[in-house]
Amino acid sequence: MIQSARLKVLVDAPVRPDGAYVLYWMQQSQRAEFNPALEFAIEQANGLGLPVLVCFGLTAFPEANLRHYDFMLRGLAEVRRRLADRGVGFVIRKQPSHELARALAADAALVVCDRGYLKIQRTWRAKLAESLDRRLVQVEGDVVVPVELPSGKHEYAARTIRPRIQRLLEDYLAPLAARPSRVRADALRIVGDIDLDDIPGVLANLQIDAAVGPVRRFEPGEGAARARLEAFVAKALPRYGAERGRPEANVASHMSPYLHFGQISPVEIALAARRSPASDSRDSYLEELIVRRELAMNHAFYAPDYDRYEVLPEWARKTLADHASDPRPHLYDRARFEAAQTHDPYWNGAMREMRATGYMHNHLRMYWGKKILNWSAGPEEAFETILALNNRWFLDGRDANSFTNVGWIFGLHDRPWGPQPVFGTVRSMGANTFKKFDADAYLRDVTWLEVAERG
Ligand SMILES: Cc1cc2nc3c(=O)[nH]c(=O)nc-3n(C[C@H](O)[C@H](O)[C@H](O)COP(=O)(O)OP(=O)(O)OC[C@H]3O[C@@H](n4cnc5c(N)ncnc54)[C@H](O)[C@@H]3O)c2cc1C
Repeated sequence: MIQSARLKVLVDAPVRPDGAYVLYWMQQSQRAEFNPALEFAIEQANGLGLPVLVCFGLTAFPEANLRHYDFMLRGLAEVRRRLADRGVGFVIRKQPSHELARALAADAALVVCDRGYLKIQRTWRAKLAESLDRRLVQVEGDVVVPVELPSGKHEYAARTIRPRIQRLLEDYLAPLAARPSRVRADALRIVGDIDLDDIPGVLANLQIDAAVGPVRRFEPGEGAARARLEAFVAKALPRYGAERGRPEANVASHMSPYLHFGQISPVEIALAARRSPASDSRDSYLEELIVRRELAMNHAFYAPDYDRYEVLPEWARKTLADHASDPRPHLYDRARFEAAQTHDPYWNGAMREMRATGYMHNHLRMYWGKKILNWSAGPEEAFETILALNNRWFLDGRDANSFTNVGWIFGLHDRPWGPQPVFGTVRSMGANTFKKFDADAYLRDVTWLEVAERG
């Protein structure tokens, strides 16, 4: 079912029954199944006796590079195939996303869009709404509980948002059936200008940072996401609670790249996890997937300056400023960090994994970020470095989760701890991180991953 709280009318104009199709402007939810915006568009189209046309505008997205575009476009090629099987049309053009939607809206009975929480995504939707002369309905599909429901304000920490989300959970953890399309889109003759059968050719013509190449570790697309999810639930989920702190144990779900590109729904993931027997492991996984992830959405939504140092809590900025001139045990600039050339082989290993594969385990991300803060000339410089490297190399970078977790390195959603040099009362992390797991086994894994990436 599609809960009514997922729907928001952005332009309250009447539906035009003389339209040629219902247009779904796909942007965040890049998938053909378990996508409430798509199912809503099909329901509307069925009611009007029209087909559905999905459009996607390929445009410059801040900080997106070859790694990101390759993953996204290969995922979209699968979306196109799956939509065709469902009788839904798909057009992709090299054009600012909302402008393509506006152009194709001219022949639409109504327009449906999905929802994104980043500034640019919100701006695009607002711009389309400003200039559209027909009905525009936004359908939330990428969080479990629509962000305004648990809280109307910026939340302080996981503990403050957790009970608010949990109260609503049962209403929003519901399956979503695929609606059959009554009128197929085969007769629509609307062509794109991007050839998804030639993705290398498309990529070669984009003005993007090509130094960050595609990765083999993650096969893109919703099929690959579901296959990974199924394997995770069957094999790793039962061990998640006890072993999630050990990167070499390989019990993480690796869902983050798919979630970032909307190639899988968090509701679908949560339902799959809930089909396994109740356990601490299951609770612990749902805590990360829902509470922690949706706390990040809350931050991006209610603190639109999420990409600026000034958004960090005042107590944290003050203590970091008080310690800004403490001597650093080691001092590196962004280039040395990016080249994985610090004195610390474990830190370098984590940076190498990120460069080679676009991924890193959560505990290592924490250590990685805390050490950049520790070894940079000042906290503002560290913030810039962490955010830039995070968004450049991670496949799941440039996400609400990216900005929020980088903020966490600097005290966001956390509390003051015992004072330390450089950190002040912001939580620090030391070398004992590596006593809690087999760090040398992890380094061997990184070497293997690098070899696998080279092919
Ligand atoms: C410094 C730093 C930077 C990070 N940058 C990113 C980023 O750019 N993009 C990103 O998606 N996540 C980021 N995270 C959060 C987290 O590390 C990743 O989401 C997680 O490691 C992804 O791997 P997984 O899907 O295998 O996680 P799993 O452990 O299997 O968790 C399942 C899902 O829960 C969510 N989740 C897990 N941990 C967190 C968390 N701490 N906060 C919010 N949601 C969480 C994610 O959506 C994840 O896919 C960062 C964390 C830190 C400390």
